[in-house]
Parts: sequence; C-alpha cells; structure tokens
Amino acid sequence: MLKISEIAVDGFEKVIELTDDSVGLHAFIAIHDSRLGPGLGGTRIHSYASRLEALQDVLRLAEGMTYKAAITKVGLGGAKGVIITDPKHKKSKPMLHAYAEGVNSLKGQFITAEDVGSSIEDVSTMSEKTPYVVGLPLEIGSGDPSPFAAWGVFQGIRAVCRTLFGNDDVRGRKIAIQGLGKVGICLANHLFWRGCNLVLSDVKKEHLRLMSRLFDAEIVSPEEIHKAECDIFAPCALGGILNSQTIPELKCQAVAGSANNQLQHESDARLLHERGILYAPDFVINAGGLINVSQEVIDGKYHAKESKRAVDQIFDTLIAIFERAKTEEQPTEMIAMQIAKEYLESKITI
Ligand code: NAD
Repeated sequence: MLKISEIAVDGFEKVIELTDDSVGLHAFIAIHDSRLGPGLGGTRIHSYASRLEALQDVLRLAEGMTYKAAITKVGLGGAKGVIITDPKHKKSKPMLHAYAEGVNSLKGQFITAEDVGSSIEDVSTMSEKTPYVVGLPLEIGSGDPSPFAAWGVFQGIRAVCRTLFGNDDVRGRKIAIQGLGKVGICLANHLFWRGCNLVLSDVKKEHLRLMSRLFDAEIVSPEEIHKAECDIFAPCALGGILNSQTIPELKCQAVAGSANNQLQHESDARLLHERGILYAPDFVINAGGLINVSQEVIDGKYHAKESKRAVDQIFDTLIAIFERAKTEEQPTEMIAMQIAKEYLESKITI
C-alpha cells in the first residue's frame, strides 16, 4: 500500500516521501515554489547511494526549477520528483503506477515529466493513474523535449560567441561536448552542419566511436574531456562537472551545455568568474525542454513553432545576463539568480 509522509523543509512549500514496499517504491516529491503557477519538474529515476542523497537531490533540483521557470516566464513554479532504484527494486509498471498515485494526491500542485532515467514511455505509464503529467507522446502531447533543449543550448552558444568574439557565427569554433545522449547528439548536429570542429566524449565507447565518425570529431576520454583545448566546453551528461578540481584544469573560454546542476557548489560560479571563463548558467541555457512541455500545461494545445519561438529567446536572455554580469563584475550564475528572483518578486507583489 502507498504511504505518503510529509517532511518539513525550510524554504520549501511541500516535500513528501512516498513508499510502497509491495512494488519497491521509494520516492520523494519536492514543491519549492508555486507562486507563479503549479510546480513542474521531471521525475528522476536513479540508484541513489542513500535516502539522504536522494532527498538532497530532489531539493536542489526543485529549487533550480523555480528559477528556470521564473527566468523563462512560463507561468509555472518549481518542483521535482525522484525515485530511488537499486538492483532489487528496478523500475516497473506497478512502481510507476504507485508513484503516479502519489503525484495524483497532490491534485495538480505538482506536474511531472521525463528526466534522467525516465522516458516518455514511463510518463505515459504514469498518465494511466494521474492527469498531472506532461511531455506525453506526440500523438497526444509534445513528445521528446530534447530537440528543444538542444536548440536552446545552440542559441546559448551563439550568445557566448557574440559576447566573446563579437559575432554569433559559430563557424570554425572548436566545441567539446561531454555526453552524446538525446541532447548531446542533437546539439552536435546543429554545430557540425554550421561548420564547428567537435571534440566528443561519452562513457559508451562504441557509441562514441560511431559519433566521432558521424561528425568527423576528435575523441577524448570522459576523464579528460573538461581539459580539452577548445573555445567552448558543453557539458551534456550529468551534474557536478564544474568543481574545485576541474575548474583549474579547463582550457576553454566558455562553458555552455545542457546538463543540470553543472556547478558542484554555488561557490564554483566564482571560481569560473575568477578564471575569466564565461559560464552560461545551466538553468537558463537548458530551459528549452521546460518551455516545450509547458505548452501542454498552459493551454493544453501544442504548437511546435510557438515553442521554438520561445526557445529562441534564450539567446537574448543570456546576452542580457552576460552584459549585466560584466557591468556588475559578478558571476553570471549570481546575476541569473537575481533576475529570476526579481521576476518572481515583481509578479507576486503586483
Ligand atoms: P541522456 O541520458 O540521453 O544522455 C546522457 C549521455 O551522457 C549518455 O550518452 C551517457 O552515456 C553520457 N554520459 C554519462 N556520464 C558521462 C560522463 N561522465 N562522461 C561522458 N559522457 C557521459 O540525457 P539527455 O536527455 O541527453 O540529457 C543530458 C543532460 O541534459 C542531463 O543532465 C539532463 O538533465 C539535461 N537536460 C536534458 C533535457 C532534455 O530535454 N533531455 C532538458 C534539460 C536538461
């Protein structure tokens, strides 16, 4: 039977822990801030080392979603879900159904979608038990958000080029991509066809070999990719790649990629700033996926062109952040957070 218990966490509207031993479910849902609209966030399915690690992850990701939703002005709040899996408790239909019942119990305060470890198929399975899911298959929803996430990252890379080189043309630029999954491949395509030289890395060796043939790219091991000499480093794998150990080793002029939580700690933003490396804050540059799924929530109809138009705006948003960061001599991450918070406060006090 599904058990739901509430955990009081400072600064969060609601955090619940869901367990159902009969189906091996152990999950958390965190609603950080729903003042701009219902909290939207994907459900991450991952083999966390401990309950505490999963709880910390859901809290950090949910808060990040608040700022991502605010800065993109999609009329939504920030939330997230995580499901803990292990070899004994693998993802299954009964497990996803039980989780979806938990989502349903929140009566629309939380709307979920796919994330790392969950797929469109999993979201469809959840939709059998709750209407509060988005990113459904194209037949009834907006389909895979990854192409929109990748398009947003491409716009971000253009904004970086404009800021650093005075021209947003990416031709001839050397770009190192870490992670050739749904977003990484799509980004590599945009860059390759516009004349970039690519350096690629992935933990899947055969897949990496094929991608290097497809894009006539240099290959670098996962341990070395952040050290690649390049114009722009694009992390498109998992979080935490920018930290006190890797930042001194970077040989790029900018970091602009899709991964969530690229900075291991908030203080790492300052390390990048001090090294003079331009950082495109992850929650701004990777918002294309959120922008696309948000259309399913806002009017229930889906128009790819409107999504694309909104994702195009990531270019202007980043240019504004880079300019203000330069004027105020502050890390871009701090400026982006300030802009998101200013928007949040202005909407609430109106
Ligand atoms: P994915 O799972 O399809 O791809 C991730 C790729 O990274 C895989 O090919 C994996 O083998 C590789 N990888 C894992 N660890 C690695 C390492 N240490 N070094 C090199 N490669 C490694 O995921 P995705 O959907 O492409 O998302 C990539 C990132 O972008 C994630 O952090 C995700 O949260 C974020 N993101 C994705 C979307 C989206 O719409 N898919 C939207 C916003 C943000």
